[in-house]
Order: sequence, then structure tokens, then C-alpha cells
Amino acid sequence: MGYSKEIYAKAFKFIADTKKAKERAYEASLDELRKQNEGFRNIEIRLSKLGAELVTTAISGNTQRLTQIKAECELVNSEKNRILRSAGIEKPDFYCKNCEDSGYFNGELCSCVKDVAKKFAFQELSASLPLNDCSFDSFDLNYYPDTEGADGTNPRKRAAAILNLCRKFANDFPCCVRSLLFMGDAGLGKTHLSLSLVRELSAKGYGVVYGSAQNLFGAAEKEHFSFSGNTTAEESLLGCDLLVIDDLGTEFYSAFTASLFYNVINSRLLSGKPTVINTNLSLDELEKRYSERIVSRFIGGYDMKKFIGSDIRQIKALEK
Ligand SMILES: [Zn+2]
Repeated sequence: MGYSKEIYAKAFKFIADTKKAKERAYEASLDELRKQNEGFRNIEIRLSKLGAELVTTAISGNTQRLTQIKAECELVNSEKNRILRSAGIEKPDFYCKNCEDSGYFNGELCSCVKDVAKKFAFQELSASLPLNDCSFDSFDLNYYPDTEGADGTNPRKRAAAILNLCRKFANDFPCCVRSLLFMGDAGLGKTHLSLSLVRELSAKGYGVVYGSAQNLFGAAEKEHFSFSGNTTAEESLLGCDLLVIDDLGTEFYSAFTASLFYNVINSRLLSGKPTVINTNLSLDELEKRYSERIVSRFIGGYDMKKFIGSDIRQIKALEK
């Protein structure tokens, strides 16, 4: 799962905080019991004396007395447990029995951390994106003209085919899916479909990074030139399970972003991590703005789909 460092840190903190809260509640109920139950107080004092005697007796080598103390400890302990049970006080159990709340199991990140990270990642994405508005089901094909254009292409059939491709992408992910390059004018549903992919895949627990080219590259550039040694933004671009770059071509262009962009596209293709890119630019314009080698990566490794039709945002605005 390719989540950011922050998400994993938040997940570890959540598990540690949950453990601490349980322990605090347990200690508080013990304190309450001590106040109310003199028998319990005496048992605790008795146990602490027996503990001290156990140590000195063990050192002295008096095995007969040692056996006696151990037997008494057992008796007093079982009385203590009886009182605890009748007061309904239980030792706090672990948040996760597998890793006993360490976060690591069999030398690997435990599934409890991954589950919590998944929840946080989805919460964060849902809070920052209109995910509820965007789903495959709410992608309305009726907004696309059902007539053939001058080049013989039917916009509705084209949109239906892209919708099917996206559904298949979400189903098959991460195996056997090719990266996607959505092209076409603004208001034709590119963002709607890519947000639907974000929604489907983050709900399945994949680490999804979504943002406009300006925001994603801007964050990495800022980090790079801050000399903080932090490379979280760049690592997220390279390491997340699915990267969705919206509005490619509208970002502030610099030599740094151009080289970062190529590195991201190339590395993700090499490591088999899918990327979805939306742009209003044509291939020629992309080549002019970035480079021929970027466009050749698109041609070699991406399914390129051009949206056609009329601006849906304008149609919706007119309908209102
Ligand atoms: Zn665990």
C-alpha cells in the first residue's frame, strides 16, 4: 500500500493513543476500587510484601519458605482477580492481538496499521475532494450528443467506451491496467471520471494521490528548494499506488517541474504503477511544452482517450 509517511505516522499514533487511553481507563478504575474497597487495598499491600519477601527468600536459598510464599501469592492473586471480576474490571486488551500494538508482525508492517492508514487516507481524500458527487453511476451519458460528428465519431458512444474502460480499470487494479491519458476540452467529464477512480480505489484501500499538476508539482518543488531534506511530496508521487494528475499543462512551468514530471512518468511506468492524467492539451502541445521523450512515454505506455462533446458544466448551468 503506497500511503504517505504522514498517513502511516498518523496510523501508528492512533494505535498508540488507543492503547494509552485503555491503560488510563484501567488505572482509573483500579484507583476507584482502592478507594471503595478496603479488602482490595489490603490484598495489594499483602501482594507487595510477598513480592519483596520472595526476592530475599530466593537469595537466601530457603526453598521450603519459597514454595510457601509462591503458594500464598497464588491464593492472594486469585482473590484479587475475583474482586476485579466482580467489579467488572478487566486488564485492557491489545488493539491488535497479532502485533500486540507494536505495529509490526513477523518482521513486517502489521495489517492493523494498514487498516487504520486506509481509513485515514480515505477520510483525508473525502474531506478534500467532492468524492460523493463523482461516481461511475452518476456519470450521465445523456450529456453527450448521440450523433456523429464531422469525423464520424459519436460522442456518446465514445464517452460510454471510456466509462467502461474506467470501470474495468477500477476492477482490475492494480494488475494489468495501463495508465490513462484523458484529453479533450474542459467540461467534458475527465475530472468526474478520474475522481470516480479515486473514490473506488481509495475505498478499496489503495494509496491514491490526487491533485492538480500545479499543486502536486508545486509541493515537490517547494520541498526540493527548502533544503529541509524532506522529500515526502516527491516520494508520494513516485510511490503511491495510483497517481492522478489533473489539469496537466496549467501549472507554472520550470526546468525543475519538467524534469520531475518526466521522472515521475518514467519511474511509474518502469515500476508498473498506474497513473491517470487529465489535460486540455493535444499531443502536439504536450510535446511542445514538455518534450518529445515524454510524449513517447505516453504513446508507449498509456491508453490515450480523447473526450468529445459539448461543455457539460455549461449545459448544467443553463439547466438551472
Ligand atoms: Zn497489529
